[in-house]
Amino acid sequence: MKAEEVKQANHQSNESINLENLSVFERTQQVIKQALGKLGYEDEFYELLKEPLRLLTVRIPVRMDDGSVKIFTGYRAQHNDSVGPTKGGIRFHPNVTEEEVKALSMWMSIKCGITNLPYGGGKGGIQCDPREMSFRELERLSRGYVRAISQIVGPTKDIPAPDVFTNSQIMGWMMDEYSRIREFDSPGFITGKPLVLGGSAGRESSTAKGVTICLREAAEVAGIQIEGARVIIQGFGNAGSFLAKFLHDAGAKIVGISDALGALYDPEGLDIEYLLDRRDSFGTVTNLFPPQLTNKELLVQECDILVPAAIENQITEENAAEIKAKILVEAANGPTTLKATEILTEKGVLIVPDVLASAGGVVVSYFEWVQNNQGYYWSEEEVEEKLEKILTASFHNVYDTSRRLKIDMRLSSYIVGLRRMAEASRWRGWV
Ligand code: GLU
Repeated sequence: MKAEEVKQANHQSNESINLENLSVFERTQQVIKQALGKLGYEDEFYELLKEPLRLLTVRIPVRMDDGSVKIFTGYRAQHNDSVGPTKGGIRFHPNVTEEEVKALSMWMSIKCGITNLPYGGGKGGIQCDPREMSFRELERLSRGYVRAISQIVGPTKDIPAPDVFTNSQIMGWMMDEYSRIREFDSPGFITGKPLVLGGSAGRESSTAKGVTICLREAAEVAGIQIEGARVIIQGFGNAGSFLAKFLHDAGAKIVGISDALGALYDPEGLDIEYLLDRRDSFGTVTNLFPPQLTNKELLVQECDILVPAAIENQITEENAAEIKAKILVEAANGPTTLKATEILTEKGVLIVPDVLASAGGVVVSYFEWVQNNQGYYWSEEEVEEKLEKILTASFHNVYDTSRRLKIDMRLSSYIVGLRRMAEASRWRGWV
């Protein structure tokens, strides 16, 4: 299929809109509108799905270690619960906003739709900088947040999980707080827990496993061998570091990585084992070396496969034309703007979008919730086998849809991801 055809079919309705100036939330609305249009749904469906059904803003007082009280702002958004309870992570980050949490909850709906999980999307966030908080301050903040949102969450309502700068310890505190409020043990309230509290084998590395599966399938359809392929990974947090390990083990050459402070690049391949060994719990490792490259410079270095695994809006109208990769696999949420998506598609770059590539985490979260509900636990092999099946099928479903309709994989992900939610909403009589 020619890139020009994709562009035309994809963005017929985009002409009058300046794609580059859209916020992540507006961007999501734009693709939802296109996807529902392609599926032939009436405007009411877009009206229903263009915003979360519910958004709670909370203010959480936390006693800090120095005796002072600090008030933190947090959110929980629930996009749509026509298919089942809502599901999605909680991020702790200074840049969390209401708009971002809303967009992220909508992306969760798409992820769950693509992978056919019985959930709608949800997302939470707290404006804070966990890198500057003590262990006990983080515990008090985590518990305070659960108390603040307890009315609208629960194992059959809305099930949180880890996201940026939250981890299994935080999930453990949150599960404990929720169980105390309800007065019975509720492991199914939250996923991404430590194993001894009902976590699932394989959850910690599941996002990276999912990215690896999608990347492998994409490389195959693009005719690129993983063995010896040059890969750049932006971000060395949970997803980025496990991914570096899996791809290194599979024989790929990791030529570039980065963290919040800077980037490393070596065309001969980096010493991944050393870097993994020396990274701190926030994924920082470049500070061990003299300054080399910035994050921005890293993205446009020579490589076959580029994996943004950090934050939003990294690939934009400004740098898209300079990207050298043949495949872009989005392990982070929202790293590429719509304008950049257009530019890359025109260049013939195969884009595996965030809502597909990063869905491994929520798939294994679903397995965790199923295991909690039945009180019977699976081996890591069982978890991996099931994840492998779901994501391989999801990749090909999205890929085939994009080829059939001559659209890019972002739009086809939304088409595949939204169809079931629109149908469930219709059967419930909401539209
Ligand atoms: N925060 C992860 C995501 O964005 C995981 C969500 C979950 O496991 O529910 O997909």
